[in-house]
Amino acid sequence: MTVKTRFAPSPTGHLHVGNIRTALHNWMFARKHGGTFLLRLDDTDTERSKEEYVSAIRADLAWLGMHPDSEERQSARSARYEEKFAELKASGRVYPAWETAQELDLKRKIQLGRGKPPIYDRAALDVSDDEIAAYEAEGRTPHWRFRLDHDGPIVWNDLIRGEQKFDPSLLSDPVIRREDGSWLYMLPSTIDDMDMGITHVVRGEDHVANTAVQIQMFEAFDAPVPEFAHEALLVGTEGKLSKRLGSLGVSGFRERHVEPQAIVALLARIGTSDPVEPVTQVETLAEAFDFARFGRAPARFDEEELAQLNQKIVHMLDHEAVRDRLPEGMSAAAWDVIRPNLHHLGEVDGWWQVVTGPVSGPDLDADDSDYLRQALSALEDLSWSDTIWKDWTLVLKESTGRKGKKLFMPLRQALTGLDHGPDMSALLPLIGRDAAIERLKTSIS
Ligand code: GLU
Repeated sequence: MTVKTRFAPSPTGHLHVGNIRTALHNWMFARKHGGTFLLRLDDTDTERSKEEYVSAIRADLAWLGMHPDSEERQSARSARYEEKFAELKASGRVYPAWETAQELDLKRKIQLGRGKPPIYDRAALDVSDDEIAAYEAEGRTPHWRFRLDHDGPIVWNDLIRGEQKFDPSLLSDPVIRREDGSWLYMLPSTIDDMDMGITHVVRGEDHVANTAVQIQMFEAFDAPVPEFAHEALLVGTEGKLSKRLGSLGVSGFRERHVEPQAIVALLARIGTSDPVEPVTQVETLAEAFDFARFGRAPARFDEEELAQLNQKIVHMLDHEAVRDRLPEGMSAAAWDVIRPNLHHLGEVDGWWQVVTGPVSGPDLDADDSDYLRQALSALEDLSWSDTIWKDWTLVLKESTGRKGKKLFMPLRQALTGLDHGPDMSALLPLIGRDAAIERLKTSIS
């Protein structure tokens, strides 16, 4: 069997971190098994679906490095849905229902008032021809429900949740089509999964009850039922899916200079028994990917953990990987010197400025001014090499008797304008002789 997974967002908004996680797991599972990954745009809701979101979804996936092997759009498949709907009609698995939203609401309230579960009572199956004629005369059109088969439980072995069992008589026959002919999610999704040969449906556990219904739909079409993996939902550090998490997406990550590798590494592992690790190679993550490692408890998304992971990942990225985003002229050698100081790539310009100048040194007391004067003349006398910092500070140590912080700090401050930063022995060769002399002169002038 060749694995085929799909990620099926509705293009009614931007992807948020929860959707991204679902996409990632679908993609990784396909990668691990040498299968394919489909992007399916669930755009049957023509009012709310927008092209700008379609483009954004594609761009976000590309930025994260998840390239779909193919793409489908539900809006292009109406004729196919119509055809399969006609089959279900012919076999009596769908039926028209005429209740208005208010009537249904009232029924539910009465059931609840009697302490009963609000399951649809199938009254539509008993509507007489005369009543139908009357509804039609009123200008009413029906919506359509899928008739669940009440014989025996619906059972599947979920790859994350284990055996799942639903009693179909405790479920309402789902509405699959609205009065205006438009489709609800349930049936088109099943038809697509069937037609597109989806072998594994990986999605959030909010879809578990939908799966019970969809399994009966696959069976009604005599189609093989895919495997299902329903993952526990994502929550924030406060234990629930906050509004913030629900709106945090790729643009927010980019603004915060979070590398796509950090997002992938975090979302691949949270909620599983595997540790979160700074892995930059997605292949490595995909190889270890296994639904058996997923827990039933919600996965916790912690922005602080992401920031720390991001920092570790930045420290692992080589020049080649970041070159396009570095300041003009910044060499591989410079990247290697500055990289260990970065919390994220957004700080690189600031450090590059320290190399290229201008920098402004601190106010000096008389003692340090004298020291820097000596340092300047010592530097002018030395022959410049890659070991210049070591040579220079050795000379100064001997001539001034200073050591430790008193020896190094005034030099660092005069040369960088800061009292912390990259290792001076690596930084000074980058700053270069002329600029270093210039900065020392400025600091004592
Ligand atoms: N468009 C559906 C959603 O975003 C897809 C669910 C599914 O994966 O089947 O919830």
